[in-house]
Amino acid sequence: MTRHYDLIAIGGGSGGLSVAERAARYGAKCAVVESGRLGGTCVNVGCVPKKVVWFGASIAHTLEDAAHYGFRLGETRFDWSALKASRDAYVQGINDWYHTYLSDSDIDEVVGTARFVDTGTIEVEGQRFTADHIVIAPGGAPLVPDTPGAELGITSDGFFALERLPRRVAVVGSGYIAVELAGMLNALGSDVTMLLRREHLLRNFDAMLRENLTEEMFGDGIDILARTQVREIAREADGSLCIECENGQRLEGFDELIWAIGRYPLTQALDLAAAGVNTDEQGYIPTDKFQQTNVDKVYAIGDVTGRAQLTPVAIAAGRRLADRLFGGMQDRHLSYENIPTVVFSHPPIGTVGLTESIARDRHGDSVKVYQTRFTAMYNALTERKQKTAMKLVTVGAREKVVGCHVIGPGADEMLQGFAVAIRMGASKQDLDDTVAIHPTSAEELVTMR
Ligand code: FAD
Ligand code: NDP
Repeated sequence: MTRHYDLIAIGGGSGGLSVAERAARYGAKCAVVESGRLGGTCVNVGCVPKKVVWFGASIAHTLEDAAHYGFRLGETRFDWSALKASRDAYVQGINDWYHTYLSDSDIDEVVGTARFVDTGTIEVEGQRFTADHIVIAPGGAPLVPDTPGAELGITSDGFFALERLPRRVAVVGSGYIAVELAGMLNALGSDVTMLLRREHLLRNFDAMLRENLTEEMFGDGIDILARTQVREIAREADGSLCIECENGQRLEGFDELIWAIGRYPLTQALDLAAAGVNTDEQGYIPTDKFQQTNVDKVYAIGDVTGRAQLTPVAIAAGRRLADRLFGGMQDRHLSYENIPTVVFSHPPIGTVGLTESIARDRHGDSVKVYQTRFTAMYNALTERKQKTAMKLVTVGAREKVVGCHVIGPGADEMLQGFAVAIRMGASKQDLDDTVAIHPTSAEELVTMR
């Protein structure tokens, strides 16, 4: 027998859970189809376990600094398996909570892989389901190149499965995941080499951020090799990995190689053609501003749309879609402008709005930039002299703030409030008129000259 719903979400990750949860609150009868673990990438192999390890790595740095604050700690030893066990238990707790939450919210959980039969029908493990509205939210998976020996490496998924801390590790890539994993592994004691195929880390971020981060990562002992593309990977007789590079370099003695070169959308299993849903050449599903695909009553949200691949974006798009479909809010949609984001590097980066370079391309001479670089008070006593750097990008006579970029300890927690101000159209004068909080690093954002 075919079951009918008001809404079916394909994917029980950040996007799918959010749209179903909000729709159910309006009284819609919903189902979530999940082929893996509830919570999706973020909960199982993304933000959540990553942030746990990041906290661990931050503690490692704090322990290094402790002596300069008068602590005599003796020898400290890090136990990767203990951290992994606590982290996995925490994630399992979130998975369990989601099962209960779905049943408490009267949302049906369908276990298995969904594929379309026609525009309003899907099939999961041989059973058919129909719905007035179908939301496609299958997320993505890490890319592995077709380089010879690529299968000897792991991805971020494999990083979370590691049973021991690698002694020597190569991280290939230059985006969010590459810098985050490299920073954490280095802080916890691995010897880390990053392989960038081009010149810079975080190429699409403001130049100030990437320059400062590169300096900090070098300072922490991470080897960053620019313009170094992997040609082949081989396993040596002693079990270690050897990397041959296009520029002739041969790098030896790695326990692990981590591919962190982007992700691809999980659309293959969906048989989108059966529903007539279009994808672009990379497999992403284009939508209009209402998350509507080219097919009526079929929507796409989250990473599968290829835009701003962040958990709060998938959540916000899902909730707004449910508000529109079932909450009577006809124009409700997510604006993809001014989305704040943090890179959990060491030190972290917080950024929102336009980079200086994009602002100058768009607004020419009406751009005025304020910046500062200093050693935060915390580092006044420590041997490790991390720098904090900030940049405000403003436009026009009113000096409307269109970009805010921060790197340094605390940047991750600093940006959320400034993102609100920027979204509301704050000017430099508005920031200056705000009383500073002292002594903090954040106060520099309202006292910049
Ligand atoms: P997902 O969360 O990936 O959920 C999709 C779900 O659909 C999956 O559970 C999958 O099993 C399921 N599925 C796929 N195909 C089918 C099918 N055919 N049938 C049934 N089920 C299916 N974002 C942040 O904002 N902050 C961070 O700190 C952060 N850190 C990250 C760290 C890492 C290592 C990674 C990889 C990502 C990180 N992200 C972070 C990004 C974030 O995880 C994603 O943007 C977010 O999970 C996207 O949500 P989604 O709902 O689109 O997809
Ligand atoms: P990103 O898109 O951030 O970065 C991948 C980078 O790797 C590319 O930009 C490219 O940089 C480089 N690259 C691509 N192909 C190759 C190749 N064949 N060899 C070497 N380098 C290559 O992807 P990630 O995998 O790091 O992360 C995926 C997404 O997940 C992010 O975009 C982000 O949206 C999300 N995420 C968010 C986090 C957060 O919010 N803190 C944390 C982790 C992930 P170049 O062209 O310069 O060489």
